[in-house]
Amino acid sequence: MEATVQKINNRIHLIDPLVFDTQGYLALYFVSSEKPLLFDVGPSSVSDRVIGAIEGLGFKGSDLQYLFISHVHTDHAGGVRRLSEWAPNAKVVVAQSGARHLIDPTKTYQSFVSLLQEYGSRVGDFKGLSQDRLLMAPVELDLGSEQARVIAASGHAHHQICLKVGRHLLAADLMGSQIMLDNHYLPTSAPPSFDYLKYNEDLDRVLSLDIDSICLAHYGAHPDVTTLITDSIDSVKWLRAQVDPLLKEGLSPEEASEAMIRRHLRSEQRIPYRLAYLHARANILGLIGSLQRIQASRG
Ligand SMILES: [Zn+2]
Repeated sequence: MEATVQKINNRIHLIDPLVFDTQGYLALYFVSSEKPLLFDVGPSSVSDRVIGAIEGLGFKGSDLQYLFISHVHTDHAGGVRRLSEWAPNAKVVVAQSGARHLIDPTKTYQSFVSLLQEYGSRVGDFKGLSQDRLLMAPVELDLGSEQARVIAASGHAHHQICLKVGRHLLAADLMGSQIMLDNHYLPTSAPPSFDYLKYNEDLDRVLSLDIDSICLAHYGAHPDVTTLITDSIDSVKWLRAQVDPLLKEGLSPEEASEAMIRRHLRSEQRIPYRLAYLHARANILGLIGSLQRIQASRG
């Protein structure tokens, strides 16, 4: 199998490396600026496909100047060792607070693999990097002919960063548009570090950016920026409003998550149902965990 490549504009391409042999699960973005950049590297199981796609666009590994890691979750970053060996001149850009996970990914890898159960064994390994390959994300990233702006979005993961290139926001897991609960998007609220309050702040903040499209990891480029953001704000509030009464009735997080899935997870999804189910379960549990932390902190 080969990755599929879709042109977003003159210098941004979406690369779908068919993670889990599934089209539409994960999008990476290649920016062919004067200093070429790859936004997320994908899991190690698809590194050959990612490399093949970039070479197909006419670039060699030694051309790449940046491997940008939006956050150190295995689906986004697991192939970083292999890609950094293929692209020896590239600096690996990561948020300061994510660096230690990129050096030693053991914990983040275990969490991902256990959440995704049988799919977890299909992402390949996750080898760490040595410190000297890392560049702590600056506010502005020099792409040669232009500057890109690094934007922190810590709701999904405390160390998540997005990148504004021209009028496009490469948004990683700032929000999701892939899995549907009724007519709502499943928020990207996976444990362990999802933060409900920050997630809402991130979405509010992005509303004020002057952009023409939002490019999500899960999934794709959305030109309908305002609609996507307002729908995402509605979705996470809706999910909370559904979950709260279940918890008040005394259901455990697991039971509440199962009840939500039975009631609301659509049987038709853009990715295989079982994969959608595992994400829904993880993300509902992640949301509940954050709500419980908020409650505990308020005493
Ligand atoms: Zn992700």
